[in-house]
Amino acid sequence: MPLMRGIGVSSGVVLGPAIVLETEETRVPRRTIQRAQIPHEMGLLAKAFESARIAIGQERVEFSHRAGTELADIFGFHERWLADPKPLKEIEQLIDEKLYSAAYAVSVFMRRYRRRFQEMASPFLQERAKDVVDIERRLLHELSGESRDELQGEGDPVIIVAHDLTPSQIVALDKSKRLLGFVTDVGGPTSHTAIIAAGLGIPAIVGLGNITANASSGDTLILDGTHGVVVINPDTTQKKEYAERAVHLQEVRANLAELREMFAETKDGYIVQLLGNIEFPDEVPGCIAQGATGIGLFRTEFLFMQDSGPPSEEQQYEAYKTAAEALADRPLVIRTMDVGGDKLMPGGTWEPEKNPFLGLRSIRYSLQHLSIFRPQLRAIVRASVHGDVRIMFPLISRIMELRQAKFVLNLVKEELEEEGFDFKSDIPVGVMIETPAAAICARELAHECNFMSIGTNDLIQYTLAVDRANERVAQLYTAADPSVLRLIRAVVRVGQRQKVPVSVCGEMAGDPMFTIWLVGMGLQTLSMAASNIPRAKKIIRSITMTDARRVARRVLSFETEREVLNFLRDETRKVWGDI
Ligand code: PEP
Ligand code: MG
Repeated sequence: MPLMRGIGVSSGVVLGPAIVLETEETRVPRRTIQRAQIPHEMGLLAKAFESARIAIGQERVEFSHRAGTELADIFGFHERWLADPKPLKEIEQLIDEKLYSAAYAVSVFMRRYRRRFQEMASPFLQERAKDVVDIERRLLHELSGESRDELQGEGDPVIIVAHDLTPSQIVALDKSKRLLGFVTDVGGPTSHTAIIAAGLGIPAIVGLGNITANASSGDTLILDGTHGVVVINPDTTQKKEYAERAVHLQEVRANLAELREMFAETKDGYIVQLLGNIEFPDEVPGCIAQGATGIGLFRTEFLFMQDSGPPSEEQQYEAYKTAAEALADRPLVIRTMDVGGDKLMPGGTWEPEKNPFLGLRSIRYSLQHLSIFRPQLRAIVRASVHGDVRIMFPLISRIMELRQAKFVLNLVKEELEEEGFDFKSDIPVGVMIETPAAAICARELAHECNFMSIGTNDLIQYTLAVDRANERVAQLYTAADPSVLRLIRAVVRVGQRQKVPVSVCGEMAGDPMFTIWLVGMGLQTLSMAASNIPRAKKIIRSITMTDARRVARRVLSFETEREVLNFLRDETRKVWGDI
């Protein structure tokens, strides 16, 4: 049966009927009014703005209870826009001067407004056009008195198929209690839509290309968010297999919860630290609840991707302090901002790049924008008094970058000392190993840093020359390629010889297929999405280091990805059943 692959952005397996959401824009008939009706239409318009603003405010509060205030801030744009008197005034003018109905005036204005965002060079600002469509839908539904929730009322749970979804559409759909999951044609793993799906725990796949053309309402779909796979109208065997898998996953989750307080310790006594990856400080308690013994990757760039613009030093200090305090002396690895590539900050400083992943990204951007980098380092250094704070520099691909970054860090420390701030003078400094260059020169890097963390998401894409966010080459993107595994081995060996701790913080760390191999290779710290921690712990508690080492050696003797995967699948099955 047709099977489509996309980017799984929120894990879980569901099976259910599809509803394909209308992909066309809302069309409002051109309607003009009599002059005498102007006050009436103006009244309707003002009421629609007010009701939409109240509704979104309520949604924001509800959402923040479930997913934290930072994520709920995504709706800040809608709220601020609806509270701003300017758009309302301009729409009123259209009613007054052109005698448009309130609904038509809204649609004319919003179309123009949306176009302005679509024409902007920055992909981040282009994304805002989706929020504009969202606001338009809300206003039009308020004006027409229709419910804006397509799934209101009783009915079976469904999988939504759409060209794209806005964050507030997902929240509204989720509220209906009928949303099993969603799949979209477009979208990348770092879109707001993806972040919201993961925050709500809704299985989701984006970037499927043309799922809206391939699936129809009423089709049965299997959505495997963990592997980014959708099956359209599965046959009986596929249905049975996936339904069993979904039930199995639920049982497994319940069983794993029992391991929360236990160590990730092999049967022969080796302890592995399982840390959490976060984007916002209020995710720390969730990580601890899943059994994380610290945070191995705080992706701070997400603080910079809010509508409100880059956070000030003070705001960052508060964010880092909140995370450090919530961890109560457990380690907190703060990665300096990894902007660029597919993670763009709002603001006008972005020149379009032909190859953004090979462009002014990450540490390269930071080193060229000291007015942003220095306040970030100041905030991190100041937060060091509140816990076990460590600094990590992303995408280091040559020793000079590490030296420059450390130079700026030292300047910042001197500055803070002169200003009388308290901070720990010996904050550990780490580098991410995300490029083949860094892996090959790990020895030199290790001489000048306190720890190394392998960012396999990027290491894979740069080693294999496969864009990690491009669904068209997704089948070529694999951690199991011998070249990737050998680079990891090289870095681990350097760490062991030079006594510099090495961890892995890319998605590979949380992929159960690689747990035994990573442990057998000697990795003592793995950092992953919190939801993967219990599973990794279970596997580690079911193996001996002797076996894991044997597996690690054998894997490195294979020539192809297929052999690696087959072998690892078999070895993992022995301790974990059917993964
Ligand atoms: C990585 O590249 O593996 C990594 C952890 O960083 P990010 O996914 O944020 O690029
Ligand atoms: Mg990376």
